[in-house]
Amino acid sequence: MTQIFDLSGKVAIVTGANTGIGQAIALSLAAAGANIAAVGRTPAEETVAQVRALGRRADIISADLSSIEPVQRVVDETIEKLGGLDILVNNAGIIRRADSVDFTEADWDAVIDTNLKVLFFLCQAAGRHMIAQGSGKIVNIASLLSFQGGIRVPSYTASKSGAGGLTKLLANEWAARGVNVNAIAPGYIATNNTAALQADETRNRQIQERIPAGRWGEASDIGGAAVFLASRAADYIHGHVLAVDGGWLAR
Ligand code: NDP
Repeated sequence: MTQIFDLSGKVAIVTGANTGIGQAIALSLAAAGANIAAVGRTPAEETVAQVRALGRRADIISADLSSIEPVQRVVDETIEKLGGLDILVNNAGIIRRADSVDFTEADWDAVIDTNLKVLFFLCQAAGRHMIAQGSGKIVNIASLLSFQGGIRVPSYTASKSGAGGLTKLLANEWAARGVNVNAIAPGYIATNNTAALQADETRNRQIQERIPAGRWGEASDIGGAAVFLASRAADYIHGHVLAVDGGWLAR
């Protein structure tokens, strides 16, 4: 039987692939057979070396995704260097924290630009190619704040609920054209992004007690969900936001 999770010969863009969740997703996709375009502003040298050690092809594509300026080049370079484009994982993201009464326009714009505007225009650039070839898988990295409000992260919450909404809109538009658009909503995952929360003993304990699984997620916990949504196993899944959260939303 052909393996339904097999990604052999597929080419995947992963943004923010140098660290954390993006790195784990790149390695999981590569373990399933995919070749990787590791896109970001910090060169993903370690990720590329590990992907190549698995026997896959990988290239670094340098791009600062704080604006849409490099978006079309990222897609063109991927196709030129790796011979195609089958999977897009929109993972790069930032967060800014402050009370809403004090929140600045700069912190609003920075987060919305990277987490939402660039995400949409990368979907557009990759989607045009995928529609033309009649197939493709897009996986947007959303958040529990796609479903909940959060506190002191207004632009992040707006960006992540926006990412969930856009995932559904693009799925509506592209499902009949061979392109699956879905999202993953990670729960509390131990990365650089959450280092301050992990270091705060009280908050750390509260978070672990609130998670039914009783522990923080690892970046590798997100990798399997990405492989699933990028694979043939997800051919009939469109517009879904898949929580990978140790049961957080079930509580
Ligand atoms: P990290 O901070 O560890 O990684 C963020 C990644 O995004 C890095 O590779 C970073 O690159 C990249 N990035 C940020 N800004 C830019 C930019 N302007 N141009 C190019 N790349 C950029 O965070 P995580 O791995 O935790 O987060 C990955 C995704 O998962 C994010 O979208 C985040 O919102 C989401 N998420 C994370 C959760 C968690 O608990 N960790 C929970 C829910 C969602 P660089 O190193 O160069 O800055």
